[in-house]
Amino acid sequence: MQRFTCDCGNVLFFGSSRCLKCSSDVGYDPQRGAMQRMRPESTMKRCQNGVKHNVCNWLLPASATAVLCVACRMNRTIPDLSTDRNRMLWARTEMAKRRLIYTLRRLGISLPSKKDDPKNGLAFDIVSTLSNPTVTTGHLNGVITLNLEEADDSYRQFNRQQLGESSRTLLGHFRHESAHYLWQRQLSELPWEDPMRLAFRERFGDEWLDYATALSTYYKQGAPADWEQNYITAYASSHPWEDWAETWSHYLQILDGLETCESLGIQVQFIALPLVMLPAESGVLPAMLPSSSAEDGEFLAWLQRWMCLSTVLNEISLSLGEPALYPFVISVHAAQKLRLAHHYAQTWGQDGRKTGEA
Ligand SMILES: [Zn+2]
Ligand SMILES: [Zn+2]
Ligand SMILES: [Zn+2]
Repeated sequence: MQRFTCDCGNVLFFGSSRCLKCSSDVGYDPQRGAMQRMRPESTMKRCQNGVKHNVCNWLLPASATAVLCVACRMNRTIPDLSTDRNRMLWARTEMAKRRLIYTLRRLGISLPSKKDDPKNGLAFDIVSTLSNPTVTTGHLNGVITLNLEEADDSYRQFNRQQLGESSRTLLGHFRHESAHYLWQRQLSELPWEDPMRLAFRERFGDEWLDYATALSTYYKQGAPADWEQNYITAYASSHPWEDWAETWSHYLQILDGLETCESLGIQVQFIALPLVMLPAESGVLPAMLPSSSAEDGEFLAWLQRWMCLSTVLNEISLSLGEPALYPFVISVHAAQKLRLAHHYAQTWGQDGRKTGEA
């Protein structure tokens, strides 16, 4: 995440809607990628979900006929707002959703809403299992469904323990489901022999492995004992699509984490820690993609900075009496998958910037 500043010089955060120093109302302008102070003569207006429900701090042009910001316009279903609890859970959900949208836009990946682009666009259904017990978090044909109850910390922790996950967050859910959406949009319609598609198969495996069978086997038998050698999470071992989604989610997490750190002025390369040395081949793309050793080197240096930073985060967390903040090990195979995710991100970002949609 970038660092934001108010016109008065005070620091602002991505979720800020008021400056604590000058007491001005502030909001985030997604077009400029900056926080803005609201003034009577302002050319921007607040998103209606912020004004009415206090769940959004994004802005849109005052001249627009729309009343919702680009992020809120993607909602197809919102929770029943007759209870304060639902409103609170919804606010947390929207916060995580906006952070995902922010990161994808930063990458240059276009994100049309499904209303504007029924084929390639994205929509969100945010529904509680209390109102509809059949709801499950997932992605289907450009619609990401999120179970609102996941915004309840005790509910989410219970699920995390039941499923033996080391980490479970709202933002992680959105990042994970965005991977399924992007896979369908960017890869599923490419010819079988397209290099981007072949590269996927080489790193993640045969995507046509029967999904339902693979998932039910995973839930019965769990991950293979040596999963950490090949996957970033145990769940990633269930099917190539899930491996991709866990890898992409992890990639976005590193991207956001390092951007936050660097924008706040922390220079990871100066932290004197013995670095975990990743072998150079972990930066290499599958043979069917054009590879450059300079880009591989940059990727590996980026990953090293993250491994260094995450070690610091874990130690600080333990100092505060909390469990390790980053309970992951990046194996060589997982690093190779992250390298491919990085390549996809760059390619899709370039496409988005070319068409000017992002
Ligand atoms: Zn201010
Ligand atoms: Zn909004
Ligand atoms: Zn998934």
